[in-house]
Amino acid sequence: MKAIIVSKPKELQIVEREIPKISEATDVLVKIKAAGICGSDIHIYHGTSPVATYPRVIGHEMVGEVIGVGEDVKDLEIGDKVVVEPMIACGECYACKSGRPNACSSLKVRGCHVDGGFQEYYVAPRKNIFKFDSSISWEEAAMIEPYTIADQITWRADIRKGDYVFIIGAGPIGLCVLEMAKLKGGICIISDFNEKRLKVAKELGADYVINPNLEDPLTKVREITNGMGSNVTIDAVCLPKTFEQAIEITSVAGRVMCLGFSKDTSEIAQLGITIKELDVRGSRHQTYKFANVVELFNDRKLQAKKLVSNVIPFKEVDKAMDLIENKPNEICKIVLTF
Ligand code: MN
Repeated sequence: MKAIIVSKPKELQIVEREIPKISEATDVLVKIKAAGICGSDIHIYHGTSPVATYPRVIGHEMVGEVIGVGEDVKDLEIGDKVVVEPMIACGECYACKSGRPNACSSLKVRGCHVDGGFQEYYVAPRKNIFKFDSSISWEEAAMIEPYTIADQITWRADIRKGDYVFIIGAGPIGLCVLEMAKLKGGICIISDFNEKRLKVAKELGADYVINPNLEDPLTKVREITNGMGSNVTIDAVCLPKTFEQAIEITSVAGRVMCLGFSKDTSEIAQLGITIKELDVRGSRHQTYKFANVVELFNDRKLQAKKLVSNVIPFKEVDKAMDLIENKPNEICKIVLTF
């Protein structure tokens, strides 16, 4: 079979590999059909991921068809459409025992610490496999994983009905967060410099959009919220400046969510957090969110199709990388097909 590997930073190639075999009674063999390219795959390619190891088959947003199961797997059939959860946690550390395996001290993520989904076949244990409705297309289904990230963030943010939610950035994650925040009853404001993405945000139900080239986000958010500020701010851009902006723009008793992996520091005074009694919370991967997101997909509650801008055969991965590197404003989510 073919696999897309990053052998070392900046070196991506398609190589020939053995088809993985079922070795445990609980294993499931999946013929991969589609997989989304994530920002974190690009970081691994660039050598800017603080956690990845090389050489690595990248990709963690993978879906496919069941073509084999171990003897203990009784509830899946050949031909079932499934998504693979990328997270492998130890089950023993403080985070795992606190019900938060996503923050496991020795967390392994498929496509990052171990080989991922940009290959034609994949084996994973039954507990990491989730079946979805056969009427959902492969390209759409590749968005299940990004929506689990958004489900996690909006859960950590404790969004309540009627909360003003300000989302910084309308890239794939920002847009997934927008849809999830709307489902949880938030009044959503989203900012981006890219008008195309703001247009998609409006179609997905954004109540207000802000282009910081045209309007100052702080002024605008205060105007929308009658001077209060956003109750929840989710930084889906993850720059030192956007984190500072998030602290400033959030209301009293509000929540500020960060999800970036940058080591760059922001200038944030304690006062801004204390005086408003803000909760500043990280959100990493997701905890037990696949079942819920699959249900939302099955019930057609999400508009994943609108986020997929390009569908490209995996053998043309160079073309996909070129679009990401050179035309980032013209794309949203790129899905590779296998
Ligand atoms: Mn991802």
